Amino acid sequence: MASHIVGYPRMGPKRELKFALESFWDGKSSAEDLKKVSADLRSSIWKQMADAGIKYIPSNTFSYYDQVLDTTAMLGAVPSRYNWTRGEIGFDTYFFMARGNASVPAMEMTKWFDTNYHFIVPELGPEVNFSYASHKAVDEYKEGKGLGVDTVPVLFGPVSYLLLFKPAKGVEKSFPLLSLLDKILPIYKEVIAELKAAGASWIQLDEPTLVLDLEAHKLEAFTKAYAELESSLSGLNVIVETYFADVPAEAFKTLTALKGVTGFGFDLVRGTQTLDLIKSGFPSGKYLFAGVVDGRNIWANDLAASLNLLQSLEGIVGKDKLVVSTSCSLLHTAVDLVNEPKLDSEIKSWLAFAAQKVVEVNALSKALAGAKDEAFFSANAAAQASRKSSPRVTNQAVQKASAALQGSDHRRATNVSARLDAQQKKLNLPILPTTTIGSFPQTAELRRVRREYKAKKISEEEYVKAIKEEIKKVVDLQEELDIDVLVHGEPERNDMVEYFGEQLSGFAFTANGWVQSYGSRCVKPPIIYGDVSRPKPMTVFWSSAAQSMTKRPMKGMLTGPVTILNWSFVRNDQPRFETCYQIALAIKDEVEDLEKEGITVIQIDEAALREGLPLRKSEHAFYLNWAVHSFRITNVGIQDTTQIHTHMCYSNFNDIIHSIIDMDADVITIENSRSDEKLLSVFREGVKYGAGMGPGVYDIHSPRIPSTEEIADRVNKMLAVLDTNILWVNPDCGLKTRKYTEVKPALQNMVSAAKAIRTQL
Ligand code: GLN
Ligand code: ZN
Repeated sequence: MASHIVGYPRMGPKRELKFALESFWDGKSSAEDLKKVSADLRSSIWKQMADAGIKYIPSNTFSYYDQVLDTTAMLGAVPSRYNWTRGEIGFDTYFFMARGNASVPAMEMTKWFDTNYHFIVPELGPEVNFSYASHKAVDEYKEGKGLGVDTVPVLFGPVSYLLLFKPAKGVEKSFPLLSLLDKILPIYKEVIAELKAAGASWIQLDEPTLVLDLEAHKLEAFTKAYAELESSLSGLNVIVETYFADVPAEAFKTLTALKGVTGFGFDLVRGTQTLDLIKSGFPSGKYLFAGVVDGRNIWANDLAASLNLLQSLEGIVGKDKLVVSTSCSLLHTAVDLVNEPKLDSEIKSWLAFAAQKVVEVNALSKALAGAKDEAFFSANAAAQASRKSSPRVTNQAVQKASAALQGSDHRRATNVSARLDAQQKKLNLPILPTTTIGSFPQTAELRRVRREYKAKKISEEEYVKAIKEEIKKVVDLQEELDIDVLVHGEPERNDMVEYFGEQLSGFAFTANGWVQSYGSRCVKPPIIYGDVSRPKPMTVFWSSAAQSMTKRPMKGMLTGPVTILNWSFVRNDQPRFETCYQIALAIKDEVEDLEKEGITVIQIDEAALREGLPLRKSEHAFYLNWAVHSFRITNVGIQDTTQIHTHMCYSNFNDIIHSIIDMDADVITIENSRSDEKLLSVFREGVKYGAGMGPGVYDIHSPRIPSTEEIADRVNKMLAVLDTNILWVNPDCGLKTRKYTEVKPALQNMVSAAKAIRTQL
């Protein structure tokens, strides 16, 4: 019985790679230093897996930035603006593509399936001159071998690579990217030949796009590509790996009929239908890599349940053809529980990070082979039982309240246009009201104050005083700039999810539970382990303090339930929507308390609502339905005169516009910096939107200061499509990452632009 790991986190248990990369980029250390840190990380990961007893250990899942960019480098598909002149791609060109520089932009980055990882999008077209330009896969295989570990080199599959493309500049959208297959396959053949020559006996080709809704001609491309590769693959064992969802029935047929392939990997955690497909017909003589250990979450595996499942699979594919595996690369989970000494032991017993998951995979494969580690299994069973029965997990009152929400509808009684009238009587705002999204620049001084308060180095009194002073500064600045609806600047928050999670019950936090988001950037998602409730108000103190400093409306600032859910590690013992409803009820309490304290405008951020959209279209409606319902629950109980804002971060929202309308917020501010046209086209096409709308008028992700004219121009463009009385004027997103020297003049120009247009209307 064998064990396999799809891929492993690269950052290191203490984010060693992050620090090595950033120091190299800053010119503080050499390329050799970076290579050394990286080689050490790879060797310790391989050794760890080998020691654990894993048979199929992956290589080439390390990356200096991103595995898709590595594939672009392998294929020499460097866009011409980087002036690369053939040969082996080095750090210069590689990081140039990843990060750009002052005058040449980086390649675009986008979300990796439905994860929070971002990959570098290949820019392809008929002009690209492919060549074998990065030997990384072969080098890492040899490196492992030199250390005595015979690894399975992992390549990103040729068809998935082409399906994640973006047409290069000047290439028509309709250009059939799959027509490039004939150009890249020869390079894959070269790589495969070198791997064979170096002694590899297995290779893994990741083809995760097989879980998407693919048209027939795309499925045919798989058939064609693998038929073409068949002869070069002969003599090698080949795994085609899929992950993140079920493989749809048609794709399953295509996949399992591929030429030259020895085994198939499936995500049996997220892919609940795959099991039936396997039962209904798995090709005889092929290996099944059964992904039963969850690579997307941090929970310990229910080993007894997995063992049952594996035993039933064994009956189908045969004892010697079943391999225990992870559901996907462990890249998407935290690295090692060993570095969490502060986490309490009960919660810790419920968790498994990447290092622990490796051990779980091996324990399952040993148990299948008849060498069950009874002590390990019974400790696991005890932890599963304690998680089920722990009073910290279950709160009957919350369970009851959230169950009562299902199947019912929650909407404010009055329609949005009547509400806006009632609000306007109270708020008396000018047309084209100006506002900002919430945060103001976070200075080093602020971070120090928060850190010292947390470490109990300064008293509560000192902390409150410092934060109030900061709020006062932000309020004064906004009054001076003559902004209409103010914010308090969020100086007390380090993160828009963590801040709430720390005050809600049912959440736990890690010290080192980092997950790579892109390049050297990592996030540390909170862990939702139990029923969520709000012991006491979370933001009322700061919001009312801020409101007392000004006569202008001060926005209460909350993070919405869907965003809190999507940016956390979520419990796997109840459906996501149930957890979301519970968070919604907690936020509802907060909204109502803010209203009671005289806050008349409340913003509930749903920055991550769009990114939680499931991979398959058939699941969109269900998700959007409960996500939007959760949002509405938060503010269903308030007066007509209280104005609810929401904010969303993404420029492409056309496909979910009807759900956004269905959120029934009074005002929505949205990120729009890079795509006015896309956004406005929806309204040009006649979608009715009666609520207030603030498409960001300038990009806060860049230090550039937009001119008054430029902002006015964008506002005028929007006015051509949207009603004058619904348009708001605001930046794209929060100002947290900017400097005051940028924020002040930018907002000044924004207000001037709004005022100038008002006089013309
Ligand atoms: N209110 C938050 C802020 O201004 C919103 C951040 C976000 O949308 N990502 O920082
Ligand atoms: Zn935003």
